[in-house]
Amino acid sequence: MSEREDLVTVARSLYLRGYTFGTAGNISVRIGERVIISPTNSSFADLVEDGLAEVDMDGVHVAGPKPSKEVPFHLAVYRARPDANAVVHLHSCHATAVSCLADLDTADAMPIYTPYYAMRLPCLPVVDYLPPGDAALGPAVEAAAAKSPALLLRNHGSIAIGRSLKEASALAEEIEEQAKLHFLLGSRGRNLTAEQVAELRRRFQ
Ligand SMILES: [Zn+2]
Repeated sequence: MSEREDLVTVARSLYLRGYTFGTAGNISVRIGERVIISPTNSSFADLVEDGLAEVDMDGVHVAGPKPSKEVPFHLAVYRARPDANAVVHLHSCHATAVSCLADLDTADAMPIYTPYYAMRLPCLPVVDYLPPGDAALGPAVEAAAAKSPALLLRNHGSIAIGRSLKEASALAEEIEEQAKLHFLLGSRGRNLTAEQVAELRRRFQ
């Protein structure tokens, strides 16, 4: 499967399963020195392989329709993580709700309730609020992405990073499901202890 085909398939799957809606979110894949990204105002529902935008690593638009206005933070992720080849940015309901909580630990947004969440990411940092497309978002995301392959944008949504589109998509889904647990549990949650988390990371990372 080509990367373009993969991007279209992953985006449509996320849309059909309710992880995204309308024209929210954007998705990209890195191929060498180029990044293929969903166009501005496009929906994950109906992307097509030959209708994707292409930019170089400096953000210069080289082919296809106008890229998402969030190109700078996608490029920031690729700068921060040389092993990353895919970025999925969603406004999925529960993860976005976490990003809007008044009382939020911006170093690590959620307690760890389940083993797979602990194994997949070291922490969930939160980038301070900035308007979409703001020039300062790139450097802020670059710093957060260096700490973890997943992060939240304050009052906005999530960013999940992977070596492949499937890996980035799976991580975006994991964050959304963890956020659902977080709200379901409210103050009744029993999170894993620091020792349990350390043991998981020793065994599986
Ligand atoms: Zn967004």
